[in-house]
Amino acid sequence: MIHGFPSRVHRDVIWPENNLTRMPENPTVSALLIREILPVIKFQELEVVNGDPPENCAVCLYEFEGEEEIRWLRNCKHIFHRACLDPWMDQDQRTCPLCRTPFVPDEMQEEFNQRLWAATGAADLYTEYTSVPGL
Ligand SMILES: [Zn+2]
Ligand SMILES: [Zn+2]
Repeated sequence: MIHGFPSRVHRDVIWPENNLTRMPENPTVSALLIREILPVIKFQELEVVNGDPPENCAVCLYEFEGEEEIRWLRNCKHIFHRACLDPWMDQDQRTCPLCRTPFVPDEMQEEFNQRLWAATGAADLYTEYTSVPGL
């Protein structure tokens, strides 16, 4: 018996998707996806991009500070503290707390749905494709 293969079976490949689909409770998959889509930047960086940003967060009413992480809603251009908006998303809200514009812009809706489908349907899909004896 000659084994021509070097022993390279190290199962150290970790699928990041598993973290996504196996969140114990909330946030929901859609909330996680929305977080990926909406950029988190520092307030001081936004000033460069946006020109004339609001000074206060509409959720907590505190002024934004330069180093604070904020989430920038692409669709309606409103900004909120990341810490203020994330709990809102955790309740499976998908619209801006201020103006009710959907977080996900129309042009990204399709991609969002696909990713949502992929994330939630991933478990079934992988079982089909991993019927190859792989150890
Ligand atoms: Zn806030
Ligand atoms: Zn808004």
